[in-house]
Amino acid sequence: MLKPLATIGILGGGQLGRMLAMAAARLGLRCHIYSPEANSCAFDVAHATTVARYDDAAALARFAASVDVVTYEFENVPARTAAILATQHKVFPDPAVLAKTQDRLIEKQFVTSLGIATAPFAPVGTAEEAEAAVRQIGRPAVLKTRRLGYDGKGQVKIGPDDDIAAAWTKLGKAECILEGFVPFEREVSVIAARAQDGTVSCFDVTENEHRNHILYRSSVPANISPALATAAIDIAGRIASAFDYVGVLAVEMFVRPKNNGAEVLLVNEIAPRVHNSGHWTIDGASVSQFEQHIRAVAGWPLGVPVRHGRVEMTNLIGAEAADLGDWLTEPGACLHLYGKANPRPGRKMGHITRIFHD
Ligand code: AMP
Repeated sequence: MLKPLATIGILGGGQLGRMLAMAAARLGLRCHIYSPEANSCAFDVAHATTVARYDDAAALARFAASVDVVTYEFENVPARTAAILATQHKVFPDPAVLAKTQDRLIEKQFVTSLGIATAPFAPVGTAEEAEAAVRQIGRPAVLKTRRLGYDGKGQVKIGPDDDIAAAWTKLGKAECILEGFVPFEREVSVIAARAQDGTVSCFDVTENEHRNHILYRSSVPANISPALATAAIDIAGRIASAFDYVGVLAVEMFVRPKNNGAEVLLVNEIAPRVHNSGHWTIDGASVSQFEQHIRAVAGWPLGVPVRHGRVEMTNLIGAEAADLGDWLTEPGACLHLYGKANPRPGRKMGHITRIFHD
């Protein structure tokens, strides 16, 4: 169990690292952020910073010498980087989890091995396999690269008239997975925290609305039945425990109506880190996802989050963050800006949380 003033090393310097460092500071813990980018927004709020590539062995060794434990804020940390650090420190979550969640095919096979449902899927490594997978799964379907996709990048929908070979070529003929297109009613996520002693604590199920493949708004509680909410939380807890996970992870799921009126949950994706759909917890609950993650990696007991009301979190994307006026004076609005200089289209610049007592 880390003592106050101990230092947590975080790989990655984006807004998730920034909000982790702020949560750590509130608990009297320090963060050392390691990022290849000199203008990383997490640097603004960190006790120590390193700018170096993820394959810079000397910089990694210096970083390791200055911290008490290591975690990361994004899932595409090179497996070798995590492995180098793991020789000197505990790395949470275990780098072996990254190997599973960095590859959509391995991730889906893992989820189904737990008896948890996903969209139907098939591997695609050749043009022939792509044709065969579409015959097997049917249309519409979604072809996704197995690795490095995010916010809708690295995926192509295959509709009734779309050419399969052209879709695969569009993805650079990469190793892919074909998924059946899920006619979902809504998308939900569960943010789960798991402590070093195996205790699991989940936040209330969050409902997520995407625009242009980017999360636009999260609302809590999700508009689903109590039974389905319990099932969603159970799924996230089972995944966290099966990974022997330490820290926070997010499980994204589709809610799909069945012909008989019942609803089923299909796991879409696991993020082995704090997640955008959990940002509402900073202002909307007594303990945030960031604090839970810091507590878990520090070996502390998890908090028991109590939600302050119905909560909505809206992302500020690209130029949307430029217009500050309304939010600065809106009663009850909690404004977060990530300190990013360049508001490129599609870039997450901040978010607003609103809490309702209705
Ligand atoms: P992903 O990168 O897998 O999280 O996908 C991004 C978004 O694309 C999801 O949040 C869904 O809105 C949509 N999507 C992805 N996969 C499917 C699918 N199999 N069926 C329907 N929509 C999907």
